[in-house]
This record gives sequence, structure tokens and C-alpha cells, in this order.
Amino acid sequence: MPESTTPGTPYGREPGEVPGSATDALRALDRQHVWHPYAPMPGKSDPLVVESASGVRLRLAEAAHGQRELIDGMSSWWSAIHGYGHPVLDEAARDQLGRMSHVMFGGLTHEPAVRLAARLAEISPGDLEHVFLCDSGSVSVEVAVKMSLQYWRSLGRPEKRRLLTWRGGYHGDTWQPMSVCDPEGGMHHLWSGALPVQVFAEAPPSGFAAEPDEEYVAHLHKMVEQHAHELAAVIVEPVVQGAGGMRFHSPAYVRALREACDEHGVLLVLDEIATGFGRTGELFAAQHAGVTPDVMCVGKALTGGYVSMAGTLCTPRVARGIARGSVPVLAHGPTFMGNPLASAIAGASLDLLLSQDWRGEVRRVGEGLRAGLAGAAALPGVREVSVLGAIGVVRLDHEVDLAAATRAAVRAGVWLRPFRDMVYAMPPYVTQDEDVARIAAAMCAAAREG
Ligand SMILES: *Cc1c(COP(=O)(O)O)cnc(C)c1O
Repeated sequence: MPESTTPGTPYGREPGEVPGSATDALRALDRQHVWHPYAPMPGKSDPLVVESASGVRLRLAEAAHGQRELIDGMSSWWSAIHGYGHPVLDEAARDQLGRMSHVMFGGLTHEPAVRLAARLAEISPGDLEHVFLCDSGSVSVEVAVKMSLQYWRSLGRPEKRRLLTWRGGYHGDTWQPMSVCDPEGGMHHLWSGALPVQVFAEAPPSGFAAEPDEEYVAHLHKMVEQHAHELAAVIVEPVVQGAGGMRFHSPAYVRALREACDEHGVLLVLDEIATGFGRTGELFAAQHAGVTPDVMCVGKALTGGYVSMAGTLCTPRVARGIARGSVPVLAHGPTFMGNPLASAIAGASLDLLLSQDWRGEVRRVGEGLRAGLAGAAALPGVREVSVLGAIGVVRLDHEVDLAAATRAAVRAGVWLRPFRDMVYAMPPYVTQDEDVARIAAAMCAAAREG
């Protein structure tokens, strides 16, 4: 997840708080040895030390700003949708550990991965039937890109190897995903000459419920048409652009891309790594648009936030195309592919999600955020407040002061991680109403002080 590249020291002690020497020692080692996301080395920040997590609360090793426990407003970056230490997921993990935590996937298979793949095929849109289970979101995007390029190669069209996306996106930090991240947020200037150069359309106009802009739809069609001869695929995040800037757009633009891709012979890859598993109010964001992509990536909430795992799904058409080539196999096979422990937890997480009224819970959390943020738009420095599904965003008219905003949230008993010009939250779906209200109040405090 892209973060501010300017480190701060957000967690000063309040007067009267006793320095915990064990924790201070840990932090010193951390700064010396451990890279953190988008951080310099040696480290310059002063991260909070988490001792344990349960339900929707993170327990700190020592109090920060008077708080020992924080309500998690971030679901650990979209992933912990059921909260922490959920008995059902804990039991699935223990049960699987009793059998095997891992075996290789070449020449072997096992029930947890098979059941998970079949379940994903069943609940995903349309005929996305084939599932590649891999290590992380970025790798699943690498696999999606490889599938797309190999599809056209196998059909004798090797010149179709570029990707088209729109500005403002985020698809991960490995090489191919980085090339389709927003050029500015992704710092393409740092990598000029090294990164594959992809085709960028303008960013989609904001607003989930906004009337679709016909000019923009025409722009998308024109871009796809102009570059179709060299395009393997269009890749975008449907409906919510997450880490590239937390912007919502009309599902009509996803439909427009599906039409343009069909018309001009280009594959459509939808990256549902952030949006999948109910976060936007539909199980997958593509379902707001009634669109089935040719290839779809899932990750983040797949294992309920327990361990890293992602998946790349594709249609029989893509799989058959790849099989027609002189190299008829998908040449990818990570060591921990289909990891049984991750698969078992993911299977349990999906069962848990689908066995309850997840739609109602997501709506309830969204309504709580909307109510709690009702006054935020009138705060000085606030440009816009938006809520979709269980995602709340307060956009400021200036770059957020990360240290001040985080301090304000922690004082209010909530963990938030603002970035660029926004304070946002996507709480676990199990967050109770009074905790949602506290998250919204902390967002207001962070927006006021950040
Ligand atoms: C987080 C994210 C990724 C990258 O996933 P990692 O597991 O961090 O590699 C890719 N695409 C989207 C939309 C994401 O939100």
C-alpha cells in the first residue's frame, strides 16, 4: 500500500506516561533492522507496538496518548473483515495445522485448495472457473498479466503485450503491477527507462452515483480502439480506486470498458483485491456493473486477514487460448502455491462470510460511518466526504499531517492510517454500532487536527 514517503514521529508520549523500556528496546531494533512499508532505512518513525489483537481491537504493548487498546478502523488494510482471533478462523487454522501447514503443489493436491478454488469459481461473476492460488495480491496481478500476454502469444499475436489502465489506480508493488499504478503516485519518473510503459486513460470522474459522463465513456472507447493492436488487456480496479487515492466511480465506466474490450479484441482484467468479499456492498465490485471480466484478481480479505494469499481467476476462453500455444502451460508456479493453511483459513472465512447477512452488516457499518461523518463536510479544511459499502473517506484540501492526524485518532481510541490528502476507514464488518461511531468521531478529530 502506498504511503507517505516522508516519515514522521507520530507517537510521542503524553506527559506522565512512563517509558516502557522493553518496548523502547524493541523499537530501537526495529529502526535498525526492519523495513516498513514505504519507509527509509534506518527507520525514522516510532511505530506503535501491538501485543495482541482480538475482535476489532488492537492491544498495545504500552499506552500511547492514554490508550492501551485501539479500535481498528483499517481492517489491517482491507483484510481483517471478521476482526481478529475469530473462533471459527482460529479453529480452521488449528485443525489444518494438525494435518499439515504446507506441502508442495507440483504433482500433489489437497482438499483445502481444491475446495477453496471450487468455492471461488462458484461465487465469482460469470464463468470465471479456473483459479491460480498464489502468495500475495501483487503476485496475482503478475499472474493476470502473464495470462493475458500468453493468451495472445498462443493465438499468434505476440505484439499484443501492452496494458491499458486509467490514472489513479493501484495494483501492487512488484514490476508489472507497478507499471499500471498511477504514474505520479507510483513515482514512474523514478523508474523511467526501466518500467514497461503502459497506456493511460484519464482517471474516471468521481462519484459512485454520479451520472456517467458521456465524454469520458467516449474517451475510454477511443483509447481502447486506438491501442487495440498492441493491447493484451485493460486492467482496472472496478468502482473503487483504493490505495491510488480512495475514489469511487460509476459502474457505467466498468461496463464501458467491457464493451470496448469486446468490440476491439482486448482482454479485461478486474483487480478486486481491495474490493472483493463484500467491502463495496456487493460480493465483488464488478457486480455493481453486471460485468464479468476475463481475468479477476482477489486477495486481501480472502483469508479474513489471517495470512497472505491471493488468487487469479480466469474464464475457459482464456485458459483454452493459453493451451493452444507452442508452450501450452501457464509458466508460473510459486513455492507456496495453494498453501494448505492459507487455503483452509480462506475457505472458513468465505463460509463464515456467506453464512451470515454480510450485505446487511456492510450496510450497517456504512450507515454508521455516514451518520458519524455527517458533520465532517463542514469542518475547515475538508473538501469532501464519501461513503460506499463499508468504506468511509474524508478528503481534505491539503496534504494530511500524518503525525497530528494519527495522534488525534489514537487519543480518540482508534487506529487510522491517513495518507496523502485523506483520512479514511474500512472497519471489520463485525464492528458494533458504538465502535463505528467512535471510528467516525476519530476520523473527524483526525481531519480537524491533520
Ligand atoms: C493491496 C492491493 C494490491 C497488492 O496486494 P499485495 O497483497 O499488497 O501485494 C493490488 N491491487 C489492489 C487493488 C490492492 O488494493
